[in-house]
Amino acid sequence: MARARSRDALVDRLIPAWNRGLHAYTPGEQPKVRGLIKLNTNENPYPPSPKVLRAVKAATDGRLRLYPNPTADGLRSKLARWHGCGVENLIVGNGSDELLAMAVRCFVRPGLRGGEQATSGTGTRRKPKVPSGEIVQYFWPSYSLYPVLADIHGARRNAVALPPDFSLPAVSDLRRGRQWDFRAALTLVTTPNAPSGRGYALGDLEALCEAQQGVVILDEAYVDFADGHALSLALRHPHVLVARTFSKAYSLCFQRVGYLVGHPALIGALHRIRDSYNVNGLGQVAAEATLADLVYYRRNFTRVRTTRDLLAKGLEAHGFRVLPSQTNFLLVEPTDRPAREWFERLRDRKILVRWFSASDVSRFLRISIGTENEMRTLLRAVAGIRGGKGRD
Ligand SMILES: *Cc1c(COP(=O)(O)O)cnc(C)c1O
Repeated sequence: MARARSRDALVDRLIPAWNRGLHAYTPGEQPKVRGLIKLNTNENPYPPSPKVLRAVKAATDGRLRLYPNPTADGLRSKLARWHGCGVENLIVGNGSDELLAMAVRCFVRPGLRGGEQATSGTGTRRKPKVPSGEIVQYFWPSYSLYPVLADIHGARRNAVALPPDFSLPAVSDLRRGRQWDFRAALTLVTTPNAPSGRGYALGDLEALCEAQQGVVILDEAYVDFADGHALSLALRHPHVLVARTFSKAYSLCFQRVGYLVGHPALIGALHRIRDSYNVNGLGQVAAEATLADLVYYRRNFTRVRTTRDLLAKGLEAHGFRVLPSQTNFLLVEPTDRPAREWFERLRDRKILVRWFSASDVSRFLRISIGTENEMRTLLRAVAGIRGGKGRD
């Protein structure tokens, strides 16, 4: 016993203090419950196109022993054609999460690594004023990975609260508020926003980008479900990058493929810190086949958007406040009982939605858009819970 304890103490000393203060990212649950309707992680309810599945199966043979293309050249040239840019404007990653992490490592100085411990949560930066080169900045609430990435790197976080309606603050308001840092080394903007679902106008995003002196990443993970996109900003402004992913809209979460679009100098800087074979081969195959069958996916986007509007109406009829959404999920506020209780009651009925305990969003549920059938089942469950029927 004593020896085991001293060995544990020994091994603890191998772990630096900055690491012990970290909190890992909390992903949505992936439970293995039969018949569960899973609406908690914004996965697409529709499978990849049959052509994509065939391509992945056809590539699954003895060639798995070979390394994949290190820079995903085939995929990048197809993306370049699609987006009307050059391959030098593109870097592909193991999901866009990897690219966000690389951008933090690439563009931000790790000022807290000198021994000072990173703090947990989403807290804002502390006085006295710290150098902007050490700052990862983002609006809050947004993607909960951002603070985690900042902490891992030993960067300073500057989380600036969005207004209650989750709209994008005007540059003049940000100047007046004084908390926003126009010189932050890296600014991350989720657009459309998650978890609110709110879309941001191109002109407003451009005004914000133009006011920033550091790198800006527009994280467009949900943009295919929106009315517009901001890719042009990444090709017009050298300090702006747009992040896209095949996960949500293209039903490929499992394969982990995302990419950044931007100026060749920034893209080149990221390539210099990239792992040698960062995008797995089957992911490259799947993504390339996806681009050859966009018609299939556009049909799905329309279906998801139509279902989203139907669900919004249905939930409003049950007394929920539904926020406008440009994504494949809805942020809704129940008015009759706490969101947490709704989350639990729905889970009892094998419907899993997302509830965040963080105080600024704990009044809400985030519900991914499923198939029409799943949404009908959800609305029936909502009616049952409201009527106090069945298990309740
Ligand atoms: C899902 C998501 C991502 C990550 O996508 P991957 O490509 O699967 O890593 C990035 N940003 C936001 C806002 C997301 O919701």
